[in-house]
Amino acid sequence: MSDYRAVALSVLLAGLSCSLSLPVQAAKQAKQQDAKQDAKQQAGAVRAAQFATMRAQFLKEFWQQDPESAMAAGRFELGAKLSLPDEAGRNAYLRFCERWLATLAKVAADQLTANDQTDLALIRNTLEANRWYLQTYREFAWNPSQHNVAGGFDNLLNTDFAPKEHRLRLISERLKAVPAYYQAAQQSIDQPTLEHTQLALAQMAGTRAVFAQIQQEAQTSSLNKAEKAELQIRLQSAGKALDGYAAFLQALIAHPPAQGWRSFRIGSDLYAAKFKADIQSPLSAQEMYQKALAAKAESHQRMAELADQLWPRVMGEVARPADATQRIKLVIDKLSEQHVQPDQLFAEIRRQLPQLEAWIQQHDLLSLDTRKPLVVRETPEYERGVSVASIEAPGIFRPHDKTYYNVTPLTGQSAEQIESTLREYNHWVLQILNIHEAIPGHYTQLQHANQSPSVIKALFGNGAMIEGWAVYSERMMLESGYGGNTPEMWLMYYKWNLRAICNTILDYQVHVMGMSEQEAKRFLTQEAFQTQAEADGKWKRVQYTSVQLTSYFSGYADIMALREELKQQRGTQFRLKPFHEQFLSYGSAPVGMIRQLMLKP
Ligand code: ZN
Ligand code: ZN
Repeated sequence: MSDYRAVALSVLLAGLSCSLSLPVQAAKQAKQQDAKQDAKQQAGAVRAAQFATMRAQFLKEFWQQDPESAMAAGRFELGAKLSLPDEAGRNAYLRFCERWLATLAKVAADQLTANDQTDLALIRNTLEANRWYLQTYREFAWNPSQHNVAGGFDNLLNTDFAPKEHRLRLISERLKAVPAYYQAAQQSIDQPTLEHTQLALAQMAGTRAVFAQIQQEAQTSSLNKAEKAELQIRLQSAGKALDGYAAFLQALIAHPPAQGWRSFRIGSDLYAAKFKADIQSPLSAQEMYQKALAAKAESHQRMAELADQLWPRVMGEVARPADATQRIKLVIDKLSEQHVQPDQLFAEIRRQLPQLEAWIQQHDLLSLDTRKPLVVRETPEYERGVSVASIEAPGIFRPHDKTYYNVTPLTGQSAEQIESTLREYNHWVLQILNIHEAIPGHYTQLQHANQSPSVIKALFGNGAMIEGWAVYSERMMLESGYGGNTPEMWLMYYKWNLRAICNTILDYQVHVMGMSEQEAKRFLTQEAFQTQAEADGKWKRVQYTSVQLTSYFSGYADIMALREELKQQRGTQFRLKPFHEQFLSYGSAPVGMIRQLMLKP
C-alpha cells in the first residue's frame, strides 16, 4: 500500500469513529425523537458507506497481492502477472496482512450491521490464517506440489472471459515468469516430505498437458506470426523450467536430505492451530474428535438394526454371525453388487441430476436456478489423484459460467480397482454422491453463495460450512423420502455418513496420534465398511492433506445443531424451505456466524 492510501484510510477511520457518537440534545419531545431517528439512520448509513469503502479498498489491494485468487474469483485484469513463490513475495504478503489487521482493529465492530460485522470477521480470520500459514505452517518449504503453475494457465485458457486471442496474449505474458517461478520454488524447498515430493512429480504430467493445450490453441488462433513465434519460445522455456524442477525433485529422492525427510504427520500443535484457523468451530480439534467417536458408536448401532431388518431379504438362509459388525459388513457387501457397468457411470450421473431437481421442486425444499449450466466431465488430469468427484464452480464475478462436476474416469485402472470403486459407488451411494456434489449439495449451495450480496462471504468461504451443507443435504433429502425411505437406502446412507465421521477420526489419529498405514486401512475397511480402493485412496489423501478431512463432519454437526435450535425457538412456525433459503443467503460464512445471524429475533 502506498502512503497515499494509508492517509486516505486513516481519514476514513477518523470519520468512522466520529459518526458513532451521536450528540444528545435537549429539545421538545416529539421533535427530538424524530431528529434522533433521522440522525441514527443517517449515522448508520454513513457507517455502512464508510465500511463499504474500506472493504473495496481492501479487496483492491488483495487482488494485487494475490492475482491467482482474483482469477479464481473470475477477475482476470492481472492475469498476465504470475506471483513468484519467493521470499520477497512472502514478506510483502505478510506486511499486507499486518497492515490490514492493524487497520481493521480500529473499526468499532459492534456499531456495524450484522452483515458487515461478519464481513469484517471473515476478512480478519483470513488475514490471521494467512499470516499463520506463512510464518508458522510454512508449507511452501516442505510441500513441493504447492508449486505448480497449471491452475492459472488453465483458468486463462478455459474461461471464456475475453476473445481467445486476448487470453493467449495474457498467457504469453504470464509464461515469461515461469522460469523464475520454478527457480524460486526450488530455493523455497527445505526438508520436504517424501510423499509431497512424489505427488509434485506425479502432477507434472498434468502441467505438461496444459502447456500442450496452449500450444495447440495458439496454432489455430489468429495471433500473428511474430506473436505465435514468441509464444512458442516462451512455452519452450517454461517446459525446460518444469524439467529443471522435476530433475531437482528426482535428485532429492535419489539423495534424500541429510536430516531425513520431514514427516507428513503435522503433529498435535500445528493440528490444533490449523483446525482453529480453517474450521472455525466453537469446538477444539480434540473436542470434535471426541464428538466423532460418539457419532461413530451411534451409527454402528443404527446400522446393526437395519442390517438385522434386511437380513432375511438380502442374505436368505446364510447363518448370522454373532458379531454385529460382521452382519453389517455382509449385508453391505451383498447390496454393493448392485452397481452400474463401468461404461455407464457418466451416463447414470447425467440421468439422475434432473430427477433430483424435480424432487426438490415437488417437495418445496429449496429454490433452484435451473438455468445455470452444470457440466459432468472427466476430472482434468492435473487435478487428479486427490478425490473421486468434485465440483468446480465459477468465481463470484463469473456467475454465468459453467459449473463442472468432475468425476475421475475409470480408464487406465485395473479391472479389480474398477470393480472396487463401482461397488463403493453402488446403486444407492451413487445417488447420495450426486446429492452431495450437485443437487442440492455443492452446486446448489455455491449458486446461492454467488447470489449473496457479500463478495467477502463468497470469496473467503468457510470449508466446513461448504462441506457441512453438502453432508447436511444428504440427510435432508433422505428425510424428505428421496430413495423411497427403504432400509437399503438408510443403511447405505449411514455407511456414507460414517465416512464423514471416520474422516474426522482418521485425520486426527494419523496426524496427531501417529496411526500407521496398516492401522488406518484396517480402521477404514473394518469399522467404516469401506472397500480396499476407497481405503487406499483415503490413505493417500490423509498424507497429502490435514484438517480438510474433518470439515465434513464438523460443518454437518453444527448445521444439525442449528436446525434443532431454530425448531425449538420457532416451534410450529418452523419451515424447512425458509430455513434453507436463509441459511444459504449469507454466502459461505462459517456456520457459527450464520447461527448468530439466524437466531436474532
Ligand atoms: Zn460388480
Ligand atoms: Zn463435498
